[in-house]
Amino acid sequence: MEKILIIDDSFVQAAQLKTILESDYDITIAQTAEDGLGYVNRQTFSLILLDVVMPGMDGFTLLKKLQEEIVTRSIPVILITSLSDVESEERGLILGAVDYITKPLNPLIVRARVNTHIKLYSYRRQVEEQSKTDQLTGIANRREHDHYSIVKWKEAARLQVPLSICMFDIDNFKAYNDTFGHPAGDKVIAGVARTISSFMQRSTDFVARYGGEEFVAFVLGGTAKEVFEHLKIIRRAVENLHMRHDPAVANWVTVSVGGVTVFPDRTNSYDAYLKIADTMLYDAKRFGKNRVVWANEKMEQWSEK
Ligand SMILES: [Mg+2]
Repeated sequence: MEKILIIDDSFVQAAQLKTILESDYDITIAQTAEDGLGYVNRQTFSLILLDVVMPGMDGFTLLKKLQEEIVTRSIPVILITSLSDVESEERGLILGAVDYITKPLNPLIVRARVNTHIKLYSYRRQVEEQSKTDQLTGIANRREHDHYSIVKWKEAARLQVPLSICMFDIDNFKAYNDTFGHPAGDKVIAGVARTISSFMQRSTDFVARYGGEEFVAFVLGGTAKEVFEHLKIIRRAVENLHMRHDPAVANWVTVSVGGVTVFPDRTNSYDAYLKIADTMLYDAKRFGKNRVVWANEKMEQWSEK
């Protein structure tokens, strides 16, 4: 059930709104703007019904505050105004309210407007979600990687913890496609993505499909040695899927992994270290594939096998 927050100093009016909507939605009532702010910071709502005239902080001030915060900016707000108050409606819409409802409340209109905006919001979230997701594998796509690389880099710098940048590439993938065809190749990509993801389940972990048969992952925290060991486990897990390859090329589908562990700060850049991870991946291929090659910040290198 989608959650709606009603912010209204009049208990009678809030209760009336609740009665109109409670069969379809999960309703929370706040009687002051301050309480309303508290709720939106702790819970996720799909819509806010906001009374304009309230003692203390009024609806406009609250609306402005909601618009200023990234977390609350996207939640649709419907203002509740008096029938005669055209000016308030204008001002509210300029401030970013999606709609308004006039008093006295008409249950049919309230329900219709609320349903419309809940639907629009849910559609928008769906589109946003899709724009971040790689269709074939269901993991993050390149675009989301570009966004997250900045987020993770800053996060690691702020927390002063190491960030590991890991690149994976499926070995002999062109040969696989040539032998078994692209639909089979797609299944391999999806299988490898699933396996990598299953070992990257911490809330701070991130995995994206970077290109064709290439993946990038971030690990926040952990020493270079620790992450190297973890990546060895993932590398082996892919091999142990026993996805049959063309015997003339290899027994099973495998991945090569290259990575680097770095302490991000203002003097270095993500792109520079992504290149280093890519160089490690190149070395993993050069050293014979199906292995992990790692570097730390001092450019000391480890290779599996
Ligand atoms: Mg009021």
